[in-house]
Amino acid sequence: MQEERSDYHGVYIDGEHRDGVETFDVENPATGGPTATVAESGERGVDDALESAKRAQSDWAAMDPSERGRLLRRFAETIGDHADELGELVTRENGRPIGQSKGFAASAADYIEYYAGLTTKIEGETIPVPGNQQAFTRKEPLGVSAQIVPWNAPLLLCCRGIGPALAAGNAVVVKPAPEAPLGPLKLGELATEVGLPDGVLNVVPGDGVTTGAALTDDSRVDEITFTGSVSTGQTVGKAAIDNVVPTALELGGKSPAIVFEDADLEDAVEGAMKALTLMSGQVCFATTRIFVHEDRYDGFRDALRKAVESISIGPGAENPDLGPLVSEDGLEKVRRYVDEALENGATALTGGEAPDREGHFYEPTVIEGAADDVPISCEEVFGPVITLYEFSEEGEAIRRANDTEFGLYATVWTNDLGRAHRVANEIEAGSVMVNQYSGSYPQTPFGGYKKSGLGREKGMQAIDHYTQLKTVNIEYGDASDSALDG
Ligand code: NAD
Repeated sequence: MQEERSDYHGVYIDGEHRDGVETFDVENPATGGPTATVAESGERGVDDALESAKRAQSDWAAMDPSERGRLLRRFAETIGDHADELGELVTRENGRPIGQSKGFAASAADYIEYYAGLTTKIEGETIPVPGNQQAFTRKEPLGVSAQIVPWNAPLLLCCRGIGPALAAGNAVVVKPAPEAPLGPLKLGELATEVGLPDGVLNVVPGDGVTTGAALTDDSRVDEITFTGSVSTGQTVGKAAIDNVVPTALELGGKSPAIVFEDADLEDAVEGAMKALTLMSGQVCFATTRIFVHEDRYDGFRDALRKAVESISIGPGAENPDLGPLVSEDGLEKVRRYVDEALENGATALTGGEAPDREGHFYEPTVIEGAADDVPISCEEVFGPVITLYEFSEEGEAIRRANDTEFGLYATVWTNDLGRAHRVANEIEAGSVMVNQYSGSYPQTPFGGYKKSGLGREKGMQAIDHYTQLKTVNIEYGDASDSALDG
């Protein structure tokens, strides 16, 4: 059990909060000051969480799937009922405007609800084989799923993974990011409140190199879902290979938008504005490179500048258009990319510096004149920064949009149906949106081409990821009719 302290949040194991090996402060990005103290799980907490998850998993998997679905539906409902409180927690820790945080908390509930409906639909197949045999497949849970979550959308990303994992009969241990553990810890509490068995969902806050690695390296883990940067994903992927367990890697992006000459400019500008302001551009699928046809370039550029100059900036709790960046390190990184681009001949159409105020704020920024192969055009900036490029031919736009090591998401703005299909087919990305930005639901698979990731989350596919396939072949007549193969 944890000690009583104000604004102190313990590790969540086996249906209760516990103290960790030490504590750390969570910072409010709008002020740079501490907003809560959290227990660091460390290896001891990971050990306890895995023991607890292992104990709980077999009964959870054996539960009548309708009952498992009912419990998950109740979990979804209670997350929805607590959306305001969850949203406030997340805004305190990652700085996101409160309207966005509450909206994302409600969307997190949608993921659990979607997968609650699938518990009774995890079906195998019958397979035609010769003679008096009945061959069929069963989709069985993997066991204990370890889920490593980043700070930018902690509730939604937790629920995106735990929804299908729990629905399929796995137990889950979540390791939230040290910047944003409060929302995920609250999810653990809510799971217990609605009657999920103790140990089915444990939450172990802490840093990556001790708590995170203790979890991913442990041989009791049967699956690893990781959402975060490419370099950490590579480390986690190696841990999964060492233990020979399946892994889903949801990594970074450098998403292009292509605005064709026949596009609705107003809609395209609105899409760019969403990309800039959603979590201050600290989103894996943020549109960061916009290729505009030469005939519309000036019109798009002027409309975007006007729109960006109207963006309000402030602490997330005041629900501005744009909140702060998550940390001083994040702010420094954005500053470095923009300064380097400006020093090398690019220009800032608007923004381009950090305002002189408390907290980790950066102005919404639009850059022009950067070459395709400089860092701001190729690497994840993770801030409210968009770079504009001009093109003249469809093929050229596709080639330049694809010229990156990432392939998570892309947007195409056109009113030509043939072109929409052609370009969507040619773009190297796991998701392509036409005439809209975002457009993502629990039922639509999501994941990366190239270095943006491995595997797909969301949709029915996620159930396949969180299950293993068993083939059963029953002989019910003369054994001589059966064949041994492999
Ligand atoms: P990060 O890789 O630094 O950290 C992600 C998580 O991994 C954190 O919980 C961290 O504590 C943990 N971690 C760090 N080192 C670890 C280790 N050795 N072993 C185990 N865990 C470890 O990423 P971040 O800065 O928190 O998040 C931003 C990145 O996440 C961006 O690249 C963004 O594009 C990506 N992202 C991807 C998606 C997606 O769905 N593809 C969604 C959101 C964010």
